[in-house]
Amino acid sequence: MDIKKDPMGRAIADYHRTGKAGRLRVFSPMFEKDEIPVQTLFRAYEDMPESERKALDMAKGSTLDVGAGSGCHSLVLQQRGVDVTAVDISPLSVATMKERGVKNVLEQDFFALHERYDTILMLMNGIGIVGTLERMPDFFRHLDRILAPGGQLLCDSSDISYVFEDEDGNIEYPEDMAYYGELNYTMQYKNIMGAAFDWLYVDAETLKRIAKENGYAVEVLVEGKHYDYLARITKNNEEE
Ligand code: SAH
Repeated sequence: MDIKKDPMGRAIADYHRTGKAGRLRVFSPMFEKDEIPVQTLFRAYEDMPESERKALDMAKGSTLDVGAGSGCHSLVLQQRGVDVTAVDISPLSVATMKERGVKNVLEQDFFALHERYDTILMLMNGIGIVGTLERMPDFFRHLDRILAPGGQLLCDSSDISYVFEDEDGNIEYPEDMAYYGELNYTMQYKNIMGAAFDWLYVDAETLKRIAKENGYAVEVLVEGKHYDYLARITKNNEEE
């Protein structure tokens, strides 16, 4: 990724260097303008939601932190002696993670990795990088390649159907919508505008169904307060 198109990475680098950052804006056709408070990307274990703490507590063996951002999860695991590797496509986030002391950092696209890991973490709605439901089968074929035998993927997501609920509690989706959790985002920080990207929010039932079709099982470990959940995905050996 070109650093001129890396708004989140620039915000992370600024916050790391100066202890403050400007607004990290998020645009999506579906939502009002929004922003990500940059300091939350630097959260400590105590400040993390239960789902993230649980995922960290369950990480074992060689562990991959996908879309690691500022390295907040990798740093906790590293301190605990877990063999963790952080991966991110953002060059400025990768540089910041190195400065913060994350020992194993890869500047790469998750989908281009080929080593195997016992635990794969995708946190802060990390499974979002799959982008669309259509890409799910490719995602599971990639897991076949990089998840070690007996390995686990720990990811979080949310059921965002509440976004389409009216005052009476009726849910109606726009007719042209393939799946309501398929969003498209653009981020901006200062004068840096990122490229638009697909981001997926998937409800647990849909994730379970698609995982099963692709030879994987999903267990919901934590249900959060905002329709969010933590899932553990493992290879479904019964069907082999
Ligand atoms: N996990 C971190 C950051 C979440 S933001 C946290 O919880 O705070 C999502 C991160 O995923 C960003 O840093 C972005 O650069 C990274 N990312 C997006 N697509 C990616 C891909 N295909 N491969 C690796 N990293 C990716």
